[in-house]
Amino acid sequence: MLSVFPIDLKSDTVTKPSAAMRKIMSEAEVGDDVYGEDPTVALLERTAAKLLGKEAALYVTSGTQGNLVSLLTHCVRGDGALVGKDCHILNYEGGGLAVLGGIVPLQVDDAKSLPSIEALELATPAKGNVHYAQAKLLCVENTHNRGGGHASTPQEVALRVEWAHKNGLSVHMDGARLFNATVALGVTPAEMTKGVDSVQICLSKGLGAPMGSLICASRDFIDRARYWRKKVGGGLRQAGIVAAAGLYALENNISRLKDDHDNAALIKDELQKGGLRISEVARPTNMVYFSAKSEAEADKLLAACRTREVIFNKTAPDTFRLATHLDVTREQAETAATVIVEEYRKLG
Ligand SMILES: *Cc1c(COP(=O)(O)O)cnc(C)c1O
Repeated sequence: MLSVFPIDLKSDTVTKPSAAMRKIMSEAEVGDDVYGEDPTVALLERTAAKLLGKEAALYVTSGTQGNLVSLLTHCVRGDGALVGKDCHILNYEGGGLAVLGGIVPLQVDDAKSLPSIEALELATPAKGNVHYAQAKLLCVENTHNRGGGHASTPQEVALRVEWAHKNGLSVHMDGARLFNATVALGVTPAEMTKGVDSVQICLSKGLGAPMGSLICASRDFIDRARYWRKKVGGGLRQAGIVAAAGLYALENNISRLKDDHDNAALIKDELQKGGLRISEVARPTNMVYFSAKSEAEADKLLAACRTREVIFNKTAPDTFRLATHLDVTREQAETAATVIVEEYRKLG
């Protein structure tokens, strides 16, 4: 019998392309995409644009590149971008917006989901005052990674979009896990991104492709973004090989995200019953944040679980994150929860 171990819950980026995905990749029609000659990339871009209710899309190498290229397209050097204190763009992308774009991050309290209108007003510098970098863009994240995978609703997004547009700002959505949000809430991706000026989606997280992201936006925006993609080295040649994996992911791996959410809920319940402290999330998806009583205890638990091939990461001295994904079965989710609780009990 095949072992259920190792069970890798450190991220939903660890998925490996399935046999079916690899087969489609090997058969993909390709061309030089910098010349606009790759039919598979073109099909992926059309498919994604349609799915998100936008005019056009651009295939990029990663979520980080998708966010960077989007921000470079929205802003010029010296412009300000409102970004959540806990958002991925600010915390986990090497400060690329500032380093490479000269864009000033204007931090706003995002309360681990979307910033309130009050918080946005507070963080927006006074207009027409030369002391301040002028806000040009609002960035929102859905689902919210540091917020425990919390899914915001289309109505909540629309409220921020309305505020931004009223104040002359554009809106970029970091939708690395957009489909986790839409599946959890039972809404369409187009409903979720209505009014949003640009959105970045990852194919390499829960959707299971080996790489790639897409920026979806208006035709004009995508035409301009294409120049930026080339400048940052994201123009690819026979990219149809990897774009085919993205197409396969969009066609086959969206609705099954519900299984990941169910598995995360199961693990959460078991850990809670086992006495571990859980960070509650209002609208959870595929993540569980939980903590031990102290840093020392957290280190011991992490190591003990690793020894038993149940793998997850720390996000703070006493706090862990685990993420479910398409390479984790129900049985593995159950086993992982059992192992974590057993090892936690051993700590006394
Ligand atoms: C993973 C992630 C990204 C970046 O994606 P990469 O493909 O790893 O560069 C951006 N935003 C969020 C919220 C993410 O979780």
